[in-house]
Formats: sequence, C-alpha cells, structure tokens
Amino acid sequence: MIGHKQNRDKNDIFNMPILGFMFKNQKFIMAVRIIVLSLFAYGVYLGFAIPEKENTFTAELFWGLFWSLFMVVTLSTFGRIFCGICPHGFVGKYLTKYGLQKEMPTWLKNPWWGLGLILIGWWAVTYSFPGFYRIPLVTALLFLSITVVAFVLYYVYKDMSYCKYVCPIGSVTKAYQRVSFTWLGSYKEDCSSCKTFDCATACPYNLKPFTFTHKNSMEDCSLCMECSSACDAIRFSIVKPSQSLYQKFKFDKIEVWTYILITAAISITMSFHHGLGRSAVAEAMPWSQTAGYFKNFVNFGSLDAIGLFAFIYALVTTIALVYAGMFVASKVLKAEFGKTFYTLGYAFAPLFIIGGLSHLLHSFFTHDYAEIANGFIYGFDLDAQEVKNLASRKEGWLKVFETFKYIAVIWAFIIMVKRINLFEAGKKAKTVAFFFASSLIIFYLFINLYRVYVVKTYGQGSHASHLRPVENHKHDCHQK
Ligand code: SF4
Ligand code: SF4
Repeated sequence: MIGHKQNRDKNDIFNMPILGFMFKNQKFIMAVRIIVLSLFAYGVYLGFAIPEKENTFTAELFWGLFWSLFMVVTLSTFGRIFCGICPHGFVGKYLTKYGLQKEMPTWLKNPWWGLGLILIGWWAVTYSFPGFYRIPLVTALLFLSITVVAFVLYYVYKDMSYCKYVCPIGSVTKAYQRVSFTWLGSYKEDCSSCKTFDCATACPYNLKPFTFTHKNSMEDCSLCMECSSACDAIRFSIVKPSQSLYQKFKFDKIEVWTYILITAAISITMSFHHGLGRSAVAEAMPWSQTAGYFKNFVNFGSLDAIGLFAFIYALVTTIALVYAGMFVASKVLKAEFGKTFYTLGYAFAPLFIIGGLSHLLHSFFTHDYAEIANGFIYGFDLDAQEVKNLASRKEGWLKVFETFKYIAVIWAFIIMVKRINLFEAGKKAKTVAFFFASSLIIFYLFINLYRVYVVKTYGQGSHASHLRPVENHKHDCHQK
C-alpha cells in the first residue's frame, strides 16, 4: 500500500496539522529519539563523572523528567509514546534486526520479570532506603546495567523480546496504554485487499497492526510508528478515553496484576507512608507500630522500616481485598473465579495512572519544574539564573489537582459497570457483584478521604523528618 494516498478520518491524528507532523514525520521522530538518546547517555556519563549529589542533572533527568513526569502524563493521554522514543527501544530495533534472532527461552519469556523488577528492584528498595536511587552514581550504574542487559537481549533474541518480557517499564506502559485516548489501527477497506502486509513486515515487534481493532488489543505495540511509514493505511486515532476497556477482549493476566500491584505499590503505599505518615497520628498506624515492635529485636541500620512495612501492608491489604471481593463477585455472578478476576480487574486501570496525576501536577508546580530546569542549568553549565518554583504549596488553586483522585475513582466505577455488563446475570446479581468487585476502588477512595479527615482532625505531624520521601516521589510528604 506504499504510494497509495489515504483518505483519512477526522479523528486520525495523522490528519491533524501539528500532531500529524509529530507522530508521522519520520525525520522529526528520529530527531526526538536522537535527542533523548543523547540526554540519556550524557546523564549516565555525568553520573559517573560527578557522582556526588551536587550533580542534580542526572537525578532530575531520570527521576524527574523521564520517569514519573513524562511517562505518567503521556501514558494517560497519548498512550505508550514513552516507548516510542525510548533509547533502549530505539537502539534495540537495530540490534535485533542485525542480531542472532534467536527465540527467547520460555523461562525468560515471562512478563513477571518486568513487573517483579519494578516492584522489588525499584519500589521495595525505594521505600526501604529513601534517597538511594537518587545518588547520581547509583542512577548511572542502574541505567548502565539496564542498558547492557537490554542490548545483549536485543542482540540475541528476536522480536524485541526484551521489551515484551523483561523491561520493567514495558509491563507498566503496556497495561496503562489502555487508559489513553489514542488507538493505532488501520483502514479496513485498504487492508482487506492488501497482499503485501508491509506494516507487519516493518514492525520490529512482529505484530500485525491491522488486527488490533478486531482483537481490541494493541498487544505489545510501542507506538514506534515504523508501520505507519511502511504503509499509509495505518491510522492513529483519537478515541474515547479507555475505549478498549468498555468492550470484550482476550484478557492478559499480567495487565490486571500490573493495575493491582502498581496501585498498591505506589498509590496505596504513598497514602500510608507519606499521607497518613505525616499526620499527627502517624505513630498509631499499623506499619509504624509493626516497625516499632521489630525494632526491639532487629537492628534495621539505615533501612527505613516504617517505609518497608507500609509497602508490605499496602501490598497484602490490596491483594487480600481484591481476592475477597472478586471471589464473592464470581459467586454472585455464577461465573468462574479466574474469568471474573481478570475481566473485572481491568476496571482498576485508572486508579494509579489518573489518580497519580494529582500528585504529579501538584509537584510539578511546587517543585519539579524548578528542580528539573535547575538540573539542566547545572548539567549544561548554562549561564542562567536559578529557576524558581511555579507555585508555593500554600496556593489554594493547587487543590484543583486533588480532583484527579476522584476522577480516577469515578472512571474506575464506570469501567466496572461496563465490564460487569459483559457477564450474563440478573440486575440484582450484577449490582451486588459491582460492590464486591469494586473493593479496591472503594478502598482507594476510603484511604484518600480518611487521610483528609485525619489531617483535618488531628493535624500534621511534627515528626515527619524520619519519613523523608523517596527519590522521584520525594515531594510526596507535601501532598495535602
Ligand atoms: S518496553 Fe522498555 S525498553 Fe522497550 S521501548 Fe518500552 S521502555 Fe523502552
Ligand atoms: S504495530 Fe507499528 S507502531 Fe506498533 S510496534 Fe509495530 S511497527 Fe511499531
């Protein structure tokens, strides 16, 4: 279909003036990738060259700009474009093409690697040793190690297997791209007469984008846009946010577990550790009590026991609630437990990715914007004045960002209603099942309301210093 002039629908981003250029023009995309790769390499280099904390560039680049800010904002809107410009995916595409093209062994072909790495390798360490990953040398070592592993795996195995199974970010971006308002697919009329399948041939991930809409799944698509330059019948459309979640599709267990575990590891743990943890009743919280109890027997050294226990409590509570709720829901719906769990679990998708915007945007105005800008001034030795915060924490209008948490809850409820309707059951059974299956959504809402109540009733704690927030979420202790 190369050379064929495509009539594009109005909602096709490729048909739009600025966005169309940004997503379709290969020279522009290549320029962005080269800039991102150069920044990545420079950030790692500077981490080794200036390993002390005075090097603010390395930490701000990786933990301020790339991870959290860019990833969460783009993932919840345009989808997986983080992967589209990722330096690993960019270089990996060539390594895979000219590499050994072997099949990845089954034991490695397990997306739990990626999710496990992010939970244990990142969050457990982050809560246990606040500030550890923010040391420039540690950041540089971490990203250099990931790069070496990624490049070796790209070279040895075919079809970008590193992205599909091992990359910690990949598991998260794949699951959450379902919340966005974009969809990559193709113009059916053109595909039905196609004999060349140029899009599939061009795809480094060995995907067939012309099947995405029919399957209601973009599978491992990283929005690299290789297919769109190979065939003009590829479309990148603006659709209803989280549209795919309103309809049937073959569930992917890891996606549901990503929603559950990431909500527990980030949203719930943050509410425990940094929300309630800075209130006047912080010491009465179970994780503080447990840490205090174990401190009688164990010398934790520099380990933040309260942070670690808050993380463990959040994981255990979340998993138990989801299991119990889904178990009852499956009984009420008279459906198999696994089917109920994985069909309805998709409703949890907005909790972290939309709710997280609340803190992220608040931090951007009160801290991150200035810190990222000052990090760049330092990194490139720019002759510029120190950049100030865009807003002070006391400014009332910042409260508007709090609404994202409640939007996330309403959004999750709506998806739950739509997904419960995929089951054949009576209205009464569906209503009861709705409440039980929504246990995590209700808990998320409760914990946020409870935090507000506790702070209003008992006030802020005066001892929050031991709860010094962590790395890229270092400002969480400032959340309202
Ligand atoms: S899956 Fe990971 S390595 Fe692959 S493009 Fe996405 S972030 Fe990069
Ligand atoms: S389907 Fe297209 S955009 Fe998606 S990974 Fe394959 S080539 Fe890239």
